[in-house]
Amino acid sequence: MTHLAGLLTGEIAAKGPVSVGRYMELALGHPDFGYYQSADPFGASGDFITAPEISQIFGELIGIWCAVVWRGMRSPERVNLVELGPGRGTLMADALRAAAMEPEFRAAIHLHLVETGKGLRHRQKETIAKAHPDVTPQWHCGIESLPEGPTIFIANEFFDALPMRQFQKTSEGWREKLIGVADNGGFRFVLSPPLTTPPPVGEELWDAEAEAVAEVSPASLNIARAIGEKVATQGGAALIIDYGHDSPGFGDTLQAVKSHGFTDPLADPGEADLTAHVDFAAIGSAAGLGGGAVFGPLAQGIFLNRLGIETRTAALVESATAGQAEEIQGAVARLTNADQMGTLFKALAVMPGGGATPPGF
Ligand code: SAH
Repeated sequence: MTHLAGLLTGEIAAKGPVSVGRYMELALGHPDFGYYQSADPFGASGDFITAPEISQIFGELIGIWCAVVWRGMRSPERVNLVELGPGRGTLMADALRAAAMEPEFRAAIHLHLVETGKGLRHRQKETIAKAHPDVTPQWHCGIESLPEGPTIFIANEFFDALPMRQFQKTSEGWREKLIGVADNGGFRFVLSPPLTTPPPVGEELWDAEAEAVAEVSPASLNIARAIGEKVATQGGAALIIDYGHDSPGFGDTLQAVKSHGFTDPLADPGEADLTAHVDFAAIGSAAGLGGGAVFGPLAQGIFLNRLGIETRTAALVESATAGQAEEIQGAVARLTNADQMGTLFKALAVMPGGGATPPGF
């Protein structure tokens, strides 16, 4: 049994079955045994690979996106560049390199990284110090401690890692899906007693067929709302990229990934990555409630094409060997093709109300 499985079993014995959200919160975020405390889950030797680890072009295009948006903000002398969940720091290192094409923007940046994992913070520090010794990032555990002022937010595969709750429609009405302990000592899903009020999911989902599962991530909604509020009142922009659906829907999207394969989400808490599909409609409405103007979601493939991924690829290929060229083109295909990451992954932008349309949207 993992340390975390022991802790969870204790909590369930004391208080009864826990929500899927509580399970995710502990399995991913426990300060000692959570999955994201483990040194490095990314890359070919880890559990999964993300867009910035597939191609440097991903972070570079985002860096240019930020520079254009900054110009649109009338080039403030000082701007907070905030990345939520920066992983290994690869996206930011690539983005800062591309941002150097706009030296005034590069000089205006105050970098803030929101990261809870201790090992990953260390990794981010190394990556950024090596590529950009003049930049001194500040780390935060959440967005509450970010400084005032115009702020550009970047979040790639951050929201999918935030805890969400699941509700299931049964013949006796809605119940919450919870996690309890099975006879063999492992974990299993159980249902709460029927709810006496509607589940806290979008109203359009209340009238579901029996057995339908609806999901809601209160943590995601709170962060999206706060981003909308900050961008609307202090100026700036947000670019959120993740995999998920653009309209609210039913379905159990909880998944666990370990060593590049799917595994049982309840098998080894703390040792596999747990994610859920992002509900872009819900995130967009929350950002809108905060006062932001929302653009997208737009398929990642379309977004990257509009930002000029083909031109950048051609430039890299020109100075590459035949083998490298094949690798570069393969990576770009992976990011943009509809049957790979091009459609399932989506981009959403949040801007101040009444402002210009951000690049790509
Ligand atoms: N953006 C990176 C990493 C994605 S994985 C990339 O594209 O490669 C998710 C990231 O979010 C990790 O860095 C993880 O440690 C961080 N994270 C997860 N939950 C978090 C939370 N509640 N607060 C802050 N960071 C979190």
